[in-house]
Amino acid sequence: MSLLRFDNVGKRYASGRDALVDVSFDVAPGEMLFVTGHSGAGKSTLLRLIHLTERATRGAVIFADRNIGKLGGRRIALHRRDVGVVFQDHRLLADRSIDDNVALPLRLRGMHRAEIAKRVRSTLEKVGLGDRGRALPRQLSAGEQQRVGIARAIAAEPKLLLADEPTGNLDPALSTEIMALLESLSMRGTAVMVASHDLALVRRMKKRVLVLDHGRLVDDIAPGDLAE
Ligand code: ADP
Ligand code: ADP
Repeated sequence: MSLLRFDNVGKRYASGRDALVDVSFDVAPGEMLFVTGHSGAGKSTLLRLIHLTERATRGAVIFADRNIGKLGGRRIALHRRDVGVVFQDHRLLADRSIDDNVALPLRLRGMHRAEIAKRVRSTLEKVGLGDRGRALPRQLSAGEQQRVGIARAIAAEPKLLLADEPTGNLDPALSTEIMALLESLSMRGTAVMVASHDLALVRRMKKRVLVLDHGRLVDDIAPGDLAE
């Protein structure tokens, strides 16, 4: 069974730039994998096609047996419930508590207050911040702030978590910590796709690696097979 399938996907931006060319791969439920490649290789574009911030211009992106390239309006919103996103700069609301930041996506989907409070608590515990809910983002360290970003992305229990350079602003020790957290989420059943150009970090994780080069998928490396 595959959760996500790229079937000969191409993406040409309106500018005429081919950001992805004939890309095909499958992701299984709960799998963790990296997408790597030089700057401009197409990593962010690939993630955008899954989150539907951009559309493929060729081929098909299939998520949970549905061709998401054809979705419109409300079905896009429904699809995004299944896909959490973590950004490099975490994008937390500075004037809201950690609790509120994590609650926001749950509020947006009309969940009841008591259920939200419960979810926020259990999610913050999952990322090791069970006691920081009342703090403001600036009162947390950079690594803790990124954990909140992850908590917000997984609060609604997505099937897939997308992370675009999630450790771009963190030192190696904190990066390793964040990666261990993402790995623990995948072991609990959430598929995790991480775009990263930090090859040393990718190597240490010993996961499957998709390698992009000028928009082409030039390698699909099995877990642990990336050369030292
Ligand atoms: P990466 O994340 O690997 O750095 P991107 O997916 O951001 O790569 O970019 C892939 C290519 O597509 C680059 O040549 C980039 O300049 C181009 N690109 C990215 N976003 C856009 C856009 N919105 N419009 C036009 N070109 C874009
Ligand atoms: P990120 O790394 O967060 O994807 P980027 O710096 O790659 O951010 O891109 C920032 C924004 O600029 C994105 O919305 C992207 O679509 C757009 N963009 C990137 N490259 C190009 C490009 N060559 N032409 C037009 N827009 C671009």
